[in-house]
Amino acid sequence: MRYLPEETTLLTLHHRYAELPALLWTACQPTPVAAPKLVAFNTALAQTLGMDELPDDVTLADYFSGNVPLPGARPMALAYAGHQFGNFVPKLGDGRALWLGEAQDAQGRLRDIQLKGSGRTPYSRGGDGRSPLGPVLREYLVSEAMAAMNIPTTRALAAVTTGERVMRQPPEPGAILARVAQSHMRVGTFQFAAARGDQDALRALADHAIERHYPELQSEHDANARYLGLFEVVMRRQAYLIARWMGAGFIHGVMNTDNSSIAGETIDYGPCAFMEAFEPHKVYSSIDQGGRYAFARQPAIAQWNLARLAECLLLLMDGEDNARVDEATAVLRRFDDLLAAERRKVSADKLGLAADSTHATPLMEALENAMHKGRMDMTATFDALYRLAAAPGEKSREVLLALSEAPDTLAGWLEQWQGEEAASQDAGRLAAMRCANPIVIPRNHRVHEAIRAAEDGDFAPFYALLSVVIAPFDDTPEARRLGAPATADERVLRTFCGT
Ligand code: AMP
Ligand code: MG
Repeated sequence: MRYLPEETTLLTLHHRYAELPALLWTACQPTPVAAPKLVAFNTALAQTLGMDELPDDVTLADYFSGNVPLPGARPMALAYAGHQFGNFVPKLGDGRALWLGEAQDAQGRLRDIQLKGSGRTPYSRGGDGRSPLGPVLREYLVSEAMAAMNIPTTRALAAVTTGERVMRQPPEPGAILARVAQSHMRVGTFQFAAARGDQDALRALADHAIERHYPELQSEHDANARYLGLFEVVMRRQAYLIARWMGAGFIHGVMNTDNSSIAGETIDYGPCAFMEAFEPHKVYSSIDQGGRYAFARQPAIAQWNLARLAECLLLLMDGEDNARVDEATAVLRRFDDLLAAERRKVSADKLGLAADSTHATPLMEALENAMHKGRMDMTATFDALYRLAAAPGEKSREVLLALSEAPDTLAGWLEQWQGEEAASQDAGRLAAMRCANPIVIPRNHRVHEAIRAAEDGDFAPFYALLSVVIAPFDDTPEARRLGAPATADERVLRTFCGT
């Protein structure tokens, strides 16, 4: 082990989660790796967590591989259960990840720091606790792109290659991702405590979720109202999140209850992908054979996951069974309206309509039909629509129509849109429209290309892609180059979990 000065204080870590009942976590050390090498570090994010003076890359690689204990860390694997593709698994937990502690951000909120791929834990079951490089780079790129698009997400803090190979078919280079989350409490964490019938652990968890994410509920002294309130705010954040996924064409791929965050962040990027040609039933994940987590099913699945959370929280409420269930069901039924309201806002921004436009939803649905019929690339369509609003004229119109294989349908839609759009007249709405319609997303073929090159030791494509996806509204030649839709040869049809 390398010598590190005593006074090394990279950041101050808290351990509130470790105060929860021991059922919910197990202390566990990372397994050292052969030759850690820092390949990416998110300095801007580090600064928001108080890491002002950074050590050299070698030291950062030691810390974020787990080879040298991060000062103040108390590594532990968190327990959770979960419905995987609809089937309940009572014990999952961090099988290849370790929670290190909580750092405080500039707003005073605690944010978890976690290592993913750091070795076996008591929850590893048959797994090796490791991660190949590909999924680490994918999560780094996609989570940072999501953050730049203002979509709630866990963040990537560091990526470290391990100098080891992980045994996959075929063997792949190994890596570790350090990530930051508002918390790692999942619907599945509540299911874990509930399935064990441990009321105290369940209550402690719910109270912790309130303290951490929804402190305004702490003043509610009636327990039933407090836990129902928790359910409702989690639901609101899910509605907010899913509306933004749908607006971006994002397909999570594995919306199991253990991958559903109580804080409402996108979490656990696996075989996720952005849709290219608009196709409501689109699935990329090789493990999602039945299309359970297809693009258009994401709202219904989020609601299904919320129902599983409600079942857990009901165990903390007093009173007659039927009455409690009715109350929770009444809240859950509001999900559709909440989601519709969020989607309307997203649609108004994407289409450059007045913020309160009542035409946003029908116009968006009609455009979705036109995109589907014309096999239009979703991101390119909205970018071209923005450019038409920014510079109305025949040329911009032609650029947009050229994206469609059914230009007549699109031309018909454009007539309706032109009667409603406000962005060409209103700088504020134009700016909002730009911010809702990225020029560049981490397209599947580009992510694929960056991963393939990195596996051969060339990280240049990864850095190039990262630098444009973290500034998705900057119109540069490089953004246009890397943001262009895949050609037929480049198209990626399937994504893999990489576990
Ligand atoms: P995920 O697919 O990331 O949602 O993981 C589902 C479950 O499998 C979680 O409990 C993970 O910790 C566990 N898991 C996935 N990959 C591995 C691995 N390589 N080693 C051990 N556990 C794993
Ligand atoms: Mg997971």
